[in-house]
Amino acid sequence: MKINCQIAGDLMAPYLDGTCSEDSERALEEHIAGCEACRERLERMGGNTPGLESGPEAVKLKTYAKRVKRHRVTIAAVTGLLFLALAGALVLGVVNLTLKDMTDRNNPTIFSQPPTEPSEPDADNSDREWDPSRWEGVYDLTAGPLSTTAGEVGDFVLFTNNAAISVELEGVEGTVYLWNTQNPDWIQISSSAPHSFNGLSAAHRYRVTVEAPADTPVTVTDGRDITFFKSMRYVLHELFGLGEDPYRR
Ligand SMILES: [Zn+2]
Repeated sequence: MKINCQIAGDLMAPYLDGTCSEDSERALEEHIAGCEACRERLERMGGNTPGLESGPEAVKLKTYAKRVKRHRVTIAAVTGLLFLALAGALVLGVVNLTLKDMTDRNNPTIFSQPPTEPSEPDADNSDREWDPSRWEGVYDLTAGPLSTTAGEVGDFVLFTNNAAISVELEGVEGTVYLWNTQNPDWIQISSSAPHSFNGLSAAHRYRVTVEAPADTPVTVTDGRDITFFKSMRYVLHELFGLGEDPYRR
């Protein structure tokens, strides 16, 4: 495409900031190859590049600078996308680990051996049905809640690996006593719901007795309180050392 000096002049500014089309670019380059005046004018316009040689070389440099500018934009866009992808992967990873932590906590390892020396075999427990969560008279609350009655709950030796025991009495207030089977002087009393005992020694065994009508349904759990945000805080704590372990007691 042949253009005259006036059109060439109009194209110079867009040419220098890299906003003119490929066709216009080529037309201008063709024109200045044969027009000394326009070539000098273009060099003057782009003259804020010191030491730039005159002639077609200078124009080549401009074109090159323009290409570099386009590449910079592309590189910035690609970097941004990569950053977003990484951030997304990180969030997905944390959510995944959080869900896994919740599942693990809801399905803890069940001890195949008593955690400390076996307790006295309980005469009252000997004729009970075999239950995988019980071993030599120790009921492992880790395996699941114990459902019994106020009259019978005292027969069980209880183990928790969560340093907590919660007792729920159905329909009555009652009073709950928590005994440490390895320390006869140690007792905790709860006279109003919720009957929750925290900060226990996880490796110890406990006994619960209830002052309530003997047929009151009683549920004993290890007091686990698992939530998505608690697990997420735990995962962030483990991965990046952020904040405190929310499950630590
Ligand atoms: Zn010209």
